[in-house]
Amino acid sequence: MNIIRDKSGLDELHRKIQAENASLGFIPTMGALHQGHLSLIERAQKENTYTICSVYVNPTQFNDPKDFDRYPRPIENDLKILEKSGCDYAFVPTNDIMYVQKTVMKYDFGSLEHVMEGKFRPGHFNGVATIVGKLFNLVKPTRAYFGQKDLQQTVVIRTLVNDLSFDIELVICDTLREPDGLAMSSRNTLLKPEHRSKAVLLYKALSQAKELYLSGASISDIQKSATAAIVSDKDFKLEYFEIVDLQSLISLKENTGLKPVAICVASFLGEIRLIDNMVIS
Ligand code: AMP
Repeated sequence: MNIIRDKSGLDELHRKIQAENASLGFIPTMGALHQGHLSLIERAQKENTYTICSVYVNPTQFNDPKDFDRYPRPIENDLKILEKSGCDYAFVPTNDIMYVQKTVMKYDFGSLEHVMEGKFRPGHFNGVATIVGKLFNLVKPTRAYFGQKDLQQTVVIRTLVNDLSFDIELVICDTLREPDGLAMSSRNTLLKPEHRSKAVLLYKALSQAKELYLSGASISDIQKSATAAIVSDKDFKLEYFEIVDLQSLISLKENTGLKPVAICVASFLGEIRLIDNMVIS
């Protein structure tokens, strides 16, 4: 595997891609790689000539400095995992490359800024769009792979691609889960052992809400029942539990049986913030 750390490495890659008329699949990550990330890499490997995975913990998307400081950064292990996966290139930039100068432009994603992650993490999507836009321009992929786990992020990035006419195909991949149902996440490694065993509660609440939705229960009853199940354990600090239209992410007020919808949850468990969602299609 080739490790690229700067612009000249990327220039060399682009010359090769152009000369061979090859395609390039790109997986942007913040590292602490797990099977979920690897599933995106595998998909990219099937659909492209070459695959490149970036590992960069982007400071501008963290609204909470404590979250940024404790975010895991096992870069040597990540590189081993990437090598083993058969990924062709790892892009491991430094802050000097990603933020040559302080960013002035700000992105505003309209209604997406006021719901769910937008509401609870002010400035988060501006940071995400800033870094993803920069990475798209630097890496120039044919296709870019993102996880449904970060549902609202996929909608923001689709908006970015459409509004700025990036010539990049977006591929959204299913969420990989631990055997007990917990969505895989780099932050799971930060959970205290006694919290790790409780974390599955979010998946259970989503699964139960899905059943209730399909049985025709009202949105407020579904929310009440899910909220009660989660907050019954004092270690959880629930931020939201929403049932939204999958395209617009607007919250449903009534259960008219509309599909596709997504049930989305965010909660702290101890100090660690977890998000998850389940799509009904
Ligand atoms: P992150 O390193 O957390 O920024 O994630 C990098 C990419 O991997 C994002 O597109 C995530 O949505 C995706 N991802 C994270 N967790 C999972 C998972 N459990 N299953 C599938 N994709 C995931």
